[in-house]
Amino acid sequence: MSSNPNNSNNRPSKKMKSIAHRIMWQISRDKIGLYFKMDILIFVLLNVFWAYMKEIEVIGDFALKRHRDLVIGSGHIAGLAYQVKSMDGTVLMTVGFFDVVTRIAMLVVALYLLQLLGVMLSLPAISARAHRTLAPIREVAEKADELNRLAFSEDKYRLIEDALEHVEPDENPYVYLHDEELLGVEKSVNHLIERLKDSYRQQARFVNDASHELRTPIAVIQGYAQMLERWGSTDEKVLEESISAISHEVNHMNRLVEQLLFLARGDSGKTVLSKEPVSLGSLMQEIYEESFMIDETHPYRFRGSDEEITVDADRMLLKQAVRILVDNAAKYTNPGDEIILGVGRTEDARPYLMVQDMGIGMSEADVEHMFERFYRADKARTYDGTGLGLSIAKWIIDRHGGHFEILSRTELGTRIMIILP
Ligand code: ATP
Ligand code: MG
Repeated sequence: MSSNPNNSNNRPSKKMKSIAHRIMWQISRDKIGLYFKMDILIFVLLNVFWAYMKEIEVIGDFALKRHRDLVIGSGHIAGLAYQVKSMDGTVLMTVGFFDVVTRIAMLVVALYLLQLLGVMLSLPAISARAHRTLAPIREVAEKADELNRLAFSEDKYRLIEDALEHVEPDENPYVYLHDEELLGVEKSVNHLIERLKDSYRQQARFVNDASHELRTPIAVIQGYAQMLERWGSTDEKVLEESISAISHEVNHMNRLVEQLLFLARGDSGKTVLSKEPVSLGSLMQEIYEESFMIDETHPYRFRGSDEEITVDADRMLLKQAVRILVDNAAKYTNPGDEIILGVGRTEDARPYLMVQDMGIGMSEADVEHMFERFYRADKARTYDGTGLGLSIAKWIIDRHGGHFEILSRTELGTRIMIILP
């Protein structure tokens, strides 16, 4: 890698200066040309005006239908003379013209010189304006050049490498390059470190929460196992209670482990989506039919759409996300109360899937946290659950570029819509 920063030093500003100069000269040239044409016109007009005034003075009136000539040496006039004849050839007037035309010419030349002086005096102002106009372009060019130099500057690379090598993950994991030119790089690297730290913190919290959640069922199972050991062979009630409790905890743990596995696979990027055209109507119809077969305690209703709505999605995963919403609706709604499943398009024509219940509902604070891993509202803790369902649903919908819209009132019910792109 070779580098010679001085070579290209100031290159953009030099270029810009010459462009500004060119603009300045162009504007000045245009002005000088314009003044020249204007002054010729003034010269002609002044001569015409003089002739007009002279005719009125000598002949007494002015008529267009007359012969007008410039003659040399006519009668007592030696030099150039202006002669006017009537249409029949009678000479009406002959006046000397040379003096007049020279005076007018001198006047116009003086005017032109003044204008040239004006242009020269305005040069700095024009140049300043050209520079001002070019300033943003110059900035961009300078930045680009700076980047260009940066890209080939080996010592800068070394500086970054050294700084990265000396990052202490436990202490203060920030990079200080002490170089003004590398301020942007320093900022981006530190931003990246901040994000890594954030994700590390999240990961650590997740592992912590997960082991905590797993410890509880293990402790319960251990307790019942000890009870079984002591009294299980003699007391039939203890035997039955322990077996039922252990089986319940094992089921819970099984579900928890499955959910944790899903999220861990998702976080590590191992879950690959296989997208295909999915008809939302038929997907929801399928879930609807399954729902009242799995859960006989609630009446289910299906609100379809006349239009066939198809999206590009991973059918299995999308179905899993909706199932999570339906499971919640069933869990947090009293038996007998209706659950509605819907499909359609929003006002801005985006496809949606909807699950609506008449259950316990949520407070605004609960809605804010409901997608967080392990979050469960206080009121929901009397029901069985892990608090991971919605985190999984959110992961799936995020990967589809969609989002959730939630409407919930405590004691009234909840409506969750999955809006897809
Ligand atoms: P699981 O992971 O076993 O589904 P869960 O249902 O508690 O457990 P999520 O599905 O993630 O966990 O839901 C998180 C929380 O959001 C619930 O604990 C509950 O407080 C609230 N919630 C979700 N859906 C509803 C609903 N339809 N009605 C009322 N509260 C709800
Ligand atoms: Mg749930």
